[in-house]
Amino acid sequence: MATYSPGDRVYCLVKDGAIVNYDEPAFDFKSIFDIVSLYAQGYMVYVPIGIPLKDSLTVIISNFEKFNMDKKFIGSVVYYITDYKIVNLYRKLDGLSCVRCAEFYPMATANQPDGTLKCWLCRNYRYR
Ligand SMILES: [Zn+2]
Repeated sequence: MATYSPGDRVYCLVKDGAIVNYDEPAFDFKSIFDIVSLYAQGYMVYVPIGIPLKDSLTVIISNFEKFNMDKKFIGSVVYYITDYKIVNLYRKLDGLSCVRCAEFYPMATANQPDGTLKCWLCRNYRYR
C-alpha cells in the first residue's frame, strides 16, 4: 500500500537534474512536489516550471491513462518517484482524489485495495 496519496505535497531532494534518494547527503536543493497519481509502486509528481529534471515526462493523450491521471493533466510535466525519494510530507491533503477522474473528495477515505479512492460515479459508470 502506498504511503502517500494523490494531492499530498512532499519534500524531495534534487541533485544534477534528478530527484535523488531521501538520504543523499550532497543534494543541490530541497523542493516541494505535488503527487499527481499513483503509478507502478510509486508516484507521479508534478514538476513546477523552473525545476529542470532530466527524466521528466510530458503527459499526452496516449499516456495519461497509463499514469492513472485525469485528462486535465495533459500538457503537464511529471516525474516518477518512489517512497525512497520522499524526505517527508509537507502537507497531507484532507481527503482523496479519485484515481480515475481525479475529482477531489474532501474527507474521503480509501476504498480500493491499493489504498486509493475510486468515486461512486467511476465505480458505477465504467466508461465515464
Ligand atoms: Zn471518479
